[in-house]
Amino acid sequence: MGVAGPQLAIPAKAALGFAMLAAGNGNRAVVSGPRIEDFAESTATPLPVALGHAIAHELGHLIARSNGHTVGIMAARWDNFGAARMRQGTLRFSQSDIGKMHKRLKASASLASQPAL
Ligand SMILES: [Zn+2]
Repeated sequence: MGVAGPQLAIPAKAALGFAMLAAGNGNRAVVSGPRIEDFAESTATPLPVALGHAIAHELGHLIARSNGHTVGIMAARWDNFGAARMRQGTLRFSQSDIGKMHKRLKASASLASQPAL
């Protein structure tokens, strides 16, 4: 997980970051510092609040091992309503997204507990 400067080329114009899902332990996620600053300024959201939510979103992709988008923190993009919920501390992962992450974490834990052959 990293925060990149203006040199980072993010594929989607409105995206604040992206996750790269690879087989094994090669997963990476990056958020764009300049895009998060623009989002925070345009929605009057404190920068640390916007940055924390962007990181949580990308971690959601990495933990669920999915590039899919749903609602709340895992929405494809956040509008002013999402930013308002962010500022109120009520923008969260959906129960469905939490379930996906739990399922993946349990699968990873059971694989890790098996003896290596
Ligand atoms: Zn996303």
